[in-house]
Amino acid sequence: MKINFKKKYFHFNLSQSIKTSKKKIIFKHGWLIKLENKNKIGFGEISPLSQNNFKECQRQLIQIPPNLDESNLLQNVKSFHPCVQSALHTAMAELKGELILNDNNQFKNIDQTAILCDSHSIQEDLKIFISKNKSMTKPITLKWKVGIKDNNTEELLLEKVLNQIKNNIRLRIDANGAWSRRIAERWADILKGNENLDWLEQPLPEDDLEGLKALQKKIPVALDESLLKYPNLIEEWDGWQIRRPSQESNPIILMKELENKKGYRSISTSFETGIGRRIIYHLASLQLEGPTPKVPGLALKQIPKSSLFSSDAKLVWDNL
Ligand SMILES: [Mg+2]
Repeated sequence: MKINFKKKYFHFNLSQSIKTSKKKIIFKHGWLIKLENKNKIGFGEISPLSQNNFKECQRQLIQIPPNLDESNLLQNVKSFHPCVQSALHTAMAELKGELILNDNNQFKNIDQTAILCDSHSIQEDLKIFISKNKSMTKPITLKWKVGIKDNNTEELLLEKVLNQIKNNIRLRIDANGAWSRRIAERWADILKGNENLDWLEQPLPEDDLEGLKALQKKIPVALDESLLKYPNLIEEWDGWQIRRPSQESNPIILMKELENKKGYRSISTSFETGIGRRIIYHLASLQLEGPTPKVPGLALKQIPKSSLFSSDAKLVWDNL
């Protein structure tokens, strides 16, 4: 099958920047791609989470010719960056009808996504949600980025947070690998058995697999950065996995895992446009039908409102 390949560059500022222990994310850029064969179309998005990978993706994208043969396309890009492969696999699966994406999605309300906040904003966010939550029936999930202030200050914040929340607020605490084993142990001791906690997310550096395994015996630990660096861990880690379709070389494998009712997978955005978000919503919907339903991390507050974020892929493409 002969395929036409097109790409377009995009850039946008988040409507609210977000701080992690490693960096401040203010903007996002990457490429949208379109594969076309006669009247069949597939879209994809190359959206590297780390700026360090942007140039590599750019260099590889230039190597892809405008006219391709389907039989060797995915073979030829096997050594490319996972974000480039992710977009091509998604677009190809859509073009071939293996991936059917719905323009409608159920993720519009605050209780349908984890709310991203950091140690600077959590108290204010909590205040707003507690007042709003009086009339809400479903629990709200806060995803709190820690490792931003010194640990004593953050432990005091934790105490305040725990004193304020009842059973209507859930917590995910994401250190982005910033903690030492000693600090992680302290938080695990405080939070052990706490029913509001979903998990500690990447509490230790991505390479400290031994420490992460030991901590997991005490408290739920979700891997994020470790999975990006060591994708084989997807087979081995039986705790929570933060899965980012746009950062994985083949999100169709993740789709199959969810279709086969594999649990303990949480779907997360890497701040995509409307085109990249379609598969995230699709996978998040599948996740909710699985054995361990959890709201996805969609960063709805950080995503601007413009045609770039429409759920209509053609509109996103045409308006760029
Ligand atoms: Mg994370």
